[in-house]
Amino acid sequence: MIDLRSDTVTVPSLGMREAILNAKVGDDVYGDDPTVNSLEERIAELLGTEAALFAPTGSMANQLGIRLLVQPGEELIAETNSHIVRAELGAAAVFSGITTRTWEAQRGILRAEDALAIARPNSGPYLVSTTAIAVENSHNFGGGSIQPLDQIVALRKASRESGMFMHLDGARLWNAHVATGISLKEYGKNFDTISVCLSKGLGAPVGSVLATTKERIAAARIWRKRYGGGMRQVGVLAAAGHYALDNNLALLKHDHLRAKRIAEACASVSPRLVDPTTVDTNIVVLDLQCMSISAAELNAQLIEAGISAAALGPKFLRFVTHLDITDADIDQVVAVLPGLLQRSLVA
Ligand SMILES: *Cc1c(COP(=O)(O)O)cnc(C)c1O
Repeated sequence: MIDLRSDTVTVPSLGMREAILNAKVGDDVYGDDPTVNSLEERIAELLGTEAALFAPTGSMANQLGIRLLVQPGEELIAETNSHIVRAELGAAAVFSGITTRTWEAQRGILRAEDALAIARPNSGPYLVSTTAIAVENSHNFGGGSIQPLDQIVALRKASRESGMFMHLDGARLWNAHVATGISLKEYGKNFDTISVCLSKGLGAPVGSVLATTKERIAAARIWRKRYGGGMRQVGVLAAAGHYALDNNLALLKHDHLRAKRIAEACASVSPRLVDPTTVDTNIVVLDLQCMSISAAELNAQLIEAGISAAALGPKFLRFVTHLDITDADIDQVVAVLPGLLQRSLVA
């Protein structure tokens, strides 16, 4: 099966497994795991923050970040289709008493004015106060879209003036960095808390990291333990993270080219399906409103041909390229997919 459901489906390579085998470990709840400690230092350095904390999942890293910024009964604002709002099962409300309000953006792309239009900092005793703004880069359900740096900077400036914090859901910040050449630090310096995933395009089996100030990391360490996320000899996973940064970060550019090929093959059937120029990174989302079949039906046809994508809405099909997808796999996809699309295209 050519599995394009997500970049989370990668399996650790032989080299990564060797790194895991050779990892020096200790009890990380005691702060004794040298491989975790060095990975946290490395990622803090990359993002330009004082400190960082290894977490089992991106959701936990996000949730730790926002709970440090927003008090119970205050609000976080985010884009309508952001992962924090749609895909973390209400964790901000359940664990932290945080309410959310959303602005809508085409392909999830940030315009500072959209966020600022709904922000209500210091709302007094009757209305909920906005304490933090979350930005997702790249934007998953937006089709891997990259956030414009000038809009991030503008939002940072305006939000800082009214005392609002900014959280970066950077699960795929690596992809944005590789695609634009903008340094991780340049992105990172605009945020108070940052989460990054090692288990997406970088190909580690498990692991995310929260990066922020030393003081917040000390608090995050307590909350991580409280959430049941204090892990012991977890250097075996951190070693995979180091390996991923050493070997796999630079390979993301291939994922981006492969995603572009999928988009171009679809656009050749109908430009209404996808505009290849909007495919910034490793995600292609098809708008199937011009098709007589649903995303689930098209996906079923694809599966019969040995290709699997993710039907994330009735007419919304997502393809994600990743480390375990080869150029030959893409040859196969572009040989099969246009024919299936053509068959169900509504004139
Ligand atoms: C995958 C992802 C996360 C974290 O997901 P986990 O499955 O909890 O690791 C967070 N944000 C975005 C945008 C993601 O795509």
